[in-house]
Amino acid sequence: MLQRTRNGRVKTVLVAGGAGFVGSHLCDALLARGDRVICVDSYITGSEDNVRPLINHPKFRLIEKDICHLFSLEEPLDQIYNLACAASPPQYQADPVHTMMTCVAGTGNLLSLGEQHRASLLQASTSEVYGDPVEHPQTEDYRGNVSCTGPRACYDEGKRAAEALCFDMLRAGKVDARVARIFNTYGPRMQPSDGRIISNLLVQAISGAPLTIFGSGDQTRSFCFVSDLVAGLIALMDVDPNPGVPVNLGNPGEFTINQLVDMVLAMMPSTSVVVHRPLPQDDPQRRRPDISRAKDLLGWQPTIPLAEGLRLTADWFIAAARPDGGFDGA
Ligand code: NAD
Repeated sequence: MLQRTRNGRVKTVLVAGGAGFVGSHLCDALLARGDRVICVDSYITGSEDNVRPLINHPKFRLIEKDICHLFSLEEPLDQIYNLACAASPPQYQADPVHTMMTCVAGTGNLLSLGEQHRASLLQASTSEVYGDPVEHPQTEDYRGNVSCTGPRACYDEGKRAAEALCFDMLRAGKVDARVARIFNTYGPRMQPSDGRIISNLLVQAISGAPLTIFGSGDQTRSFCFVSDLVAGLIALMDVDPNPGVPVNLGNPGEFTINQLVDMVLAMMPSTSVVVHRPLPQDDPQRRRPDISRAKDLLGWQPTIPLAEGLRLTADWFIAAARPDGGFDGA
């Protein structure tokens, strides 16, 4: 439904990181309901290709910018989604200082923009704030088990600091800030080379390369299809009043990596064999959201089962593959 401000103006929404995997689906959904969308992205991990179908949309504007640098906008702004941050470990570890600065300075800059425009801000936080959890499943009250000096700290601690900034600005009455803790999300437009488990397995199965399992494969993950996540992000941004607490968004279905590999192989008969590699440092053993808070406050829960979402994602990867089964940039 078309969203209007109190004075009847169509809402203008800034999506930082809008040319990324999740951000581009969010831009699609906001435009589909009639909002104006300003996508700000540095393309460090995202791509203009993800938003190319939107470029000529009359309500869409694309700005190339790194959020680490302060910027201003002339037009009125109603909502800001901050999705800008490399999200896969190889990508956020490639320039860890920039990752940390994106989380802290970048989020600070967007909060300043929100304060100037009296715009609400939704921060895309992460289940990584729970680190390698000793409580299972993770509720939002669990404070986490994070290494502040390890190779993942630039992301995990950066996101924790960004949450702290959001709640400081909220308590100070400066910005209507909201925080979503996002669990593993998958779907079309994931980058073939991002090193995440679902994209890795699909790329390997399609190209006939060995399917890589890190560690024994008994570690668990939960996987949320991207359209479910986008619905949750919009629900959290729009809910009134602001819950004032972080909200987990993810799919509570829990699967071992071995189960995921079996599903991929059953779906896509492949010549690939399975190989095991050592588990990366600080890799969590179990990850599953408790989404009671999202259900209570937002009336939100995921609707797409893993088998269905995997099929949609696999179809997209198959269409994106070169005729030889390889992937550009992978
Ligand atoms: P992505 O890498 O596809 O998208 C991130 C986008 O942000 C990219 O387009 C990138 O170019 C842009 N970006 C990064 N740093 C920037 C900067 N300094 N200035 C401007 N743009 C910048 O990742 P994604 O999977 O779409 O993740 C989106 C958000 O959701 C991230 O903040 C991530 O931490 C969070 N998240 C994602 C998942 C997931 O499973 N996909 C899980 C938890 C949290």
